[in-house]
Amino acid sequence: MSVPTPSRALVESLVRDTLFRNLGKASPASPAPTLVVNSSARHMHITQENLEILFGAGYKLEVFKWLYQEGQFASTATVTLIGPRRRIIPNLRILGPCRNLTQIELAFTDSIQLGIDIPVRASGEIEGTPGGYVMGPKGMIEMPNGIIRAARHVHMHPSDADFYGVKHRDFMKMRVMSAQCTTTFEDMLVRVDPSFKLEVHIDTDEANAAALDKATKVGLVR
Ligand SMILES: [Zn+2]
Repeated sequence: MSVPTPSRALVESLVRDTLFRNLGKASPASPAPTLVVNSSARHMHITQENLEILFGAGYKLEVFKWLYQEGQFASTATVTLIGPRRRIIPNLRILGPCRNLTQIELAFTDSIQLGIDIPVRASGEIEGTPGGYVMGPKGMIEMPNGIIRAARHVHMHPSDADFYGVKHRDFMKMRVMSAQCTTTFEDMLVRVDPSFKLEVHIDTDEANAAALDKATKVGLVR
């Protein structure tokens, strides 16, 4: 397998940054980090314990498609959600790896489909949120809570947070420019972690409203 050759400009910029780092200061001409914006389709995070109830003892998630964040993947496993009003969302994909919390992230359109109000929450903050039943090929679980609309957010490495002058749990705005419907999203939650790569996550309703796939430019502003 051949390794792609970095472009001359990239090499020069890496060399320049290394030189400045060695001098103990940030490069004054350091270019803006590449901003990746992705829409998250409805999905489920799950504990290994709940996974084994749905798919059988010893079941392990398998990679269907790697995601942009290191180690995160869409798995081959899908389930059916039965909401509190007995309405159904089929083919709900489980993301891996397993977590210490079972949580389902839906879009506003899904909440209309289910006929329930689903609050916007930061991932993991599920107290007081609706629950439901989840059906897998080998069993069913009852979630007492854990159905949320994920707050639009941006993953950042600490170096990205430095670049934008923000810190963990700050809010930013994101502008999505396109020929016909330029849109600015407010309340974009900043999440900083050394394991993160710079990436915005919005849901499918938000991406559709802003015609994300036709965007000519995206930018974050404080
Ligand atoms: Zn995310």
